Amino acid sequence: MTKTYTAIDVHVHPGTKEFLSNAMGHYADAAEKYFRKTVPIKTETEMAEEFREEGVFGVLLAWDTRSATGLPPVTNDYVASIVEEFPNDFMGFASVDPWRGKTALSELRRAVECLGLRGLKVQQIAMAFRPNDRQFYPMWELCCELEIPVLMHCGTTGLGAGLPGGGGLLLDYGRPIYIDEVAADFPDLSIICAHPAWPWQSEMIAIALHKANVVIDLSGWSPKYFPEELKKEIGTRLQDKALFGTDYPYISPKRWLSDFTDLGFSEEIKQKILLDNAKRILGI
Ligand SMILES: [Zn+2]
Repeated sequence: MTKTYTAIDVHVHPGTKEFLSNAMGHYADAAEKYFRKTVPIKTETEMAEEFREEGVFGVLLAWDTRSATGLPPVTNDYVASIVEEFPNDFMGFASVDPWRGKTALSELRRAVECLGLRGLKVQQIAMAFRPNDRQFYPMWELCCELEIPVLMHCGTTGLGAGLPGGGGLLLDYGRPIYIDEVAADFPDLSIICAHPAWPWQSEMIAIALHKANVVIDLSGWSPKYFPEELKKEIGTRLQDKALFGTDYPYISPKRWLSDFTDLGFSEEIKQKILLDNAKRILGI
């Protein structure tokens, strides 16, 4: 990896057809409405150029919700192939479907040991599981053994938003408090909680302040709309525990960074949130 980047975006979905049309399936239109944006499908090369232009290194996320949604995954092999082609622009996190039991565990091991992916991404609402359910604990044990962080979804989601019955998805799975128990039971597990966790923002902040192994990413919302409580905490008590993330392709690094600049944080705080905290958590 060359050192030309000035920020690390820890929450990047591929802006290609593999994620936007295949893996999003019947949720694609609702997600666009939620983000009030039509999201053009890009090629891997266009995506890498977009990140390079902003000086941003991205953590590209695989996605596997097949048991709960019936939709095809963004495979670990696909993410690894992009990382291999653009190693100066991206690193990758694996995703496995927790309901696939031992198959999920062996796939996670393969993704890390053979494909070189360096974290695990789960989206509990789309995968329909609670992370503190004991049947999924082997996944967290394996993350500890492989020494990789896990990125967990928090708060509401654009998936199913505005559809009858929310497309069958339950927001409850996105409650941060379930992660609190995982963090307590696995003190060596490095957990990145994604997004301002609305409507459980205070709950999320309390957990990040209480558990040394929990940090938050700031993806999925333009900084312009961050709740006051979140703005205050990331500039003070959570300054070493908040990480830049976009939720690309729904929010571009250009837009996020420009709106973040407008919040007026000091250079020291910006440096931590945009770069240093992620380097520490990702071990780069
Ligand atoms: Zn996301």
